[in-house]
Amino acid sequence: MDAARAMTAFFDAPVRGKNLDDLRRTNLATALGLIHAARSISRADLTRSMGLNRSTIATIVADLEARDLIVIGGARDTKRIGRPSLEISTSDRHVVIAVNPELDATTLGIVAMGGRVLREVRMDHERPPSAREVVNSVRALVAGMQPELGQRHEVLGVALAVPGLVSAVDGSVRLAPHLEWVDEPIAAMLAEALGVPAWAVNDASCGVVAEVLFGAGIGSGNVVYLNGGASGVGGGVVAESRLIQGRGGFGGEIGHTLVRSDGAACRCGSRGCLEAEVTRTALLEAVSLEPARAHELEALLFEAYAQSDDVRALVDAQLSSLAVALRTAVNMLNPEIVVLGGFLEILGRIGGERLERMLREVALPGPGQQVRLEGARLGRMNLLIGAAELAFRPLLSDPAAAPVVAGREHAAGALS
Ligand SMILES: [Zn+2]
Repeated sequence: MDAARAMTAFFDAPVRGKNLDDLRRTNLATALGLIHAARSISRADLTRSMGLNRSTIATIVADLEARDLIVIGGARDTKRIGRPSLEISTSDRHVVIAVNPELDATTLGIVAMGGRVLREVRMDHERPPSAREVVNSVRALVAGMQPELGQRHEVLGVALAVPGLVSAVDGSVRLAPHLEWVDEPIAAMLAEALGVPAWAVNDASCGVVAEVLFGAGIGSGNVVYLNGGASGVGGGVVAESRLIQGRGGFGGEIGHTLVRSDGAACRCGSRGCLEAEVTRTALLEAVSLEPARAHELEALLFEAYAQSDDVRALVDAQLSSLAVALRTAVNMLNPEIVVLGGFLEILGRIGGERLERMLREVALPGPGQQVRLEGARLGRMNLLIGAAELAFRPLLSDPAAAPVVAGREHAAGALS
């Protein structure tokens, strides 16, 4: 259960004081963390993972169920000798409204534990939305989802995945160059507008958390994630099972590492950054594709790469620049997995093993040999799932804080 262990450290959880219930609270948190990371687990596997006896596990499971945090399903044949074991899954009761504002669209998802996106709504816009417009859209959408949302779910809060520099202290956006946001207290604005707690974090940080928990980086505590989107290249780093955010929350911006000293001007004010040299716009233009049809990029680019010298030269130049940036990340962080998302995943697939070979040629032999490249496995959903993880943190770290459902008090008596 490396994923579950890795997960527990991603975002700092509130520290509680010691009391007599500490052990039980810790057991509840460990169990819920395991079920959350696995999405669904047999009671036998949970018992084995926690190393506790069956009656203690039965008490823990009953308590979590009394708080509507898990659902106990039918027996699963574990292919082991003995009785089939009950299947335990996370419940849909507690949800987070996750939001990802981008240049061309704002995506909103209702995310349940286990990284499950129950519903997704996409709002297209012609120009980058202002922070106030995003807040208003989210408020209107959430109002439109009532009363269903209020009846079936407990909304823990709103979590925003922002393509920009986000303060880890208060969730304000220091700079989101492509959205043209400067010093926007977006988390505070959302909390006020919706009346629930709100969080904001860099989008690629959300991506790496989601991929480590549920996607291409599962089971690893050393993952670098690079996402190529409409608004540039975002980077997120999990090192030694911790999300690397740095002093203010601005760390991990691999998109702004230098790949060419005489390179193109970057939106950050510098030159030759990865995201200035490797752009989705150049690839779209090379195959004469409108941004609105970016989903067709992969098929067209594969075809053009085989047929056009110009396209091949462009793609190869982008692959070289990507390898230079990856060299920096790999030498510095010694990751086990580099996950490529968005159009970088397409580039990686066109480059095939060549990109991995180029990287091994330029990286130091130790880290260069230990890294492998993977495509993002959760697609665009990873930003919403990772953002939601922020809002699930307090509940996951102390499930006993969730109220007991009326009529189930007997199962949770010890902690209610
Ligand atoms: Zn830059």
